[in-house]
Amino acid sequence: HKSTVIITGASSGVGLYAAKALADRGWYVVMACRNQPKAHQAAQSVGIPLDSYTVMQIDLGSLDSVRQFVKDFRATGKSLDALVCNAAIYMPLLKEPLRSPEGYELSMTTNHLGHFLLCNLMLEDLKRSPAPEKRVVILGTVTHNPNELGGKIPPRPDLGNLEGFADGFKEPVSMIDGKKFEPVKAYKDSKVCNVLTMRELHRRYHDNTGIVFTSLYPGCVADTPLFRNHYPLFQKIFPWFQKNITGGYVSQELAGERVADVVTKPEYGQSGSYWSWGNRQKKDRKAAFVQKVSPQAQDEAKAERMWELSEKLVGLP
Ligand code: NDP
Repeated sequence: HKSTVIITGASSGVGLYAAKALADRGWYVVMACRNQPKAHQAAQSVGIPLDSYTVMQIDLGSLDSVRQFVKDFRATGKSLDALVCNAAIYMPLLKEPLRSPEGYELSMTTNHLGHFLLCNLMLEDLKRSPAPEKRVVILGTVTHNPNELGGKIPPRPDLGNLEGFADGFKEPVSMIDGKKFEPVKAYKDSKVCNVLTMRELHRRYHDNTGIVFTSLYPGCVADTPLFRNHYPLFQKIFPWFQKNITGGYVSQELAGERVADVVTKPEYGQSGSYWSWGNRQKKDRKAAFVQKVSPQAQDEAKAERMWELSEKLVGLP
């Protein structure tokens, strides 16, 4: 009997290689993707055996689609042992915000609100699983943290007092702090919310469910398609810069292995942790360590406010 993991956004980059690594370790992988033909093709291209995976439809930029995914997954009768929240969009060149069907700004919806709803709904499935240990892993990033070298480049993430969420997050509001639209900041804000969500899931549910909630920064995976919406020149220079100047570069294969480690290995079983291998890839550094998250991502009052306002926006409970 195989353990089952759901990975969102497994059709490319870190998610695809995490799917491959987990399949190699004997897991059954549910690739939760918005483009099914692309996901199948991606799975084949990295050699995931047909009996180790399935592709299921989800658009994290639509809350109805997230709810439908949960129904579809339940209809398979599979038990759920781990959930990896990995999908994300990064749209640095946008001048005007894109919107979800609900009318919410799309990066925050895809990266945070969709996953927030998914985690909350799938807690039930994880609780029902007979596995001795269940895990939820949410992808973080160094850019969520202005105190780290990799997070210093402006604009900095800033949730403010979540005025934009409190005001309903629809037109004319596009940012969580209610300020002017800034697509790079929208991405970073959403990643702060990802870390806050992990910490709040841990605080609310670890003791009473035993589920382990963690995040990780896999390293700078500079040649994933995440940067597909950036200037072509940036897409050429960034991987080179990360390889040769900062030393932050990590291959997609290694990033996938790191996600798989956090999902499966006993040494990553400390709930509430944010795992990192450092931003500079030192040759002698193999082991991960628990890294301090940014001041905003540590702020418990902010976490609680984020939680309550996100619940309202996604229509929970
Ligand atoms: P990619 O762009 O390669 O992959 C993103 C995945 O998310 C794709 O499978 C994409 O699907 C999917 N996706 C996007 N929008 C939606 C949606 N609305 N519904 C469902 N799926 C969607 O990016 P990465 O692999 O680089 O990033 C993965 C994660 O890793 C992100 O959370 C990112 O923040 C994090 N990360 C990445 C770093 C890096 O350096 N690359 C560094 C630190 C963290 P599709 O194929 O259809 O476009």
